[in-house]
Amino acid sequence: MPGYNGNVQPDSASPIILAENLTKTYQAGKVLVTAVRGLSMSVEPGEFVAIVGPSGSGKSTLFYLLGGLTRATSGRVVIDGIDFATLDDGARTKLRRHRIAFVFQKFNLLPTLSAMGNIEIAYTVSGRASGPNGTPMDLKYLDHLSEILSIQGRLVHRPAELSGGEQQRVAIARALITRPAIVLADEPTGNLDTRNSDAVLNMLLRSNRELGQTTLMITHNPEAAAIAGRILYMRDGEIVREEKGSRANEVLPPAGAAV
Ligand code: ADP
Repeated sequence: MPGYNGNVQPDSASPIILAENLTKTYQAGKVLVTAVRGLSMSVEPGEFVAIVGPSGSGKSTLFYLLGGLTRATSGRVVIDGIDFATLDDGARTKLRRHRIAFVFQKFNLLPTLSAMGNIEIAYTVSGRASGPNGTPMDLKYLDHLSEILSIQGRLVHRPAELSGGEQQRVAIARALITRPAIVLADEPTGNLDTRNSDAVLNMLLRSNRELGQTTLMITHNPEAAAIAGRILYMRDGEIVREEKGSRANEVLPPAGAAV
């Protein structure tokens, strides 16, 4: 099986995320549940795409498949020209750590570490600091992210001392510190009130526009999806419709505002 050395140059003419005829079937006792059904889609570098659908339509399963967190039953996922299925587990993990960052509904911050500790450990786990070509975490870049995310002065605190909105913004900083090519966000505003949801959506949009990260956001909330350049609607494991987000061209408030 071919390996992945982390240095593959993306081909800018091809999609950064490609799913072809993707199917995922779960065995639930004696019953087979097809969560994703022959789905094909592609995302170009720098796009902000939202995937919307009712509960049970297969959004999370698609998220896990595109993020290389689970294997497809059939079909393929190609990230930056590399087919996940051709990689062994180690190489798949390496590809994921080099190219993809995740933002989850429940923030998933480690409770015993400060916000800074959470960001540092994500950087360490990504492998960027180790080896002969390892580079230490870029503190200037972290300052820049903290400013965009309005969490300056909050990094010494543990998650329990932060509001839900602040925790999610720390989780976004943790995702972005590795300068991933792709940000996959699964219901990132699901646990937040309207004010904090707006702030987090603005941050995701800002990181997409200003830092160039390709962003794919799963949500069941049509208002959140409206900020995306493209919205894909899922039902019964398939994409049934596509449209442009009605707020996709909105001008963002200045960094630090609306929080
Ligand atoms: P969504 O994120 O849109 O709510 P999911 O991908 O979580 O949808 O689920 C799609 C379908 O797959 C549902 O019918 C769900 O019950 C089923 N499913 C999801 N995960 C599993 C699993 N680990 N085992 C069995 N069935 C599952």
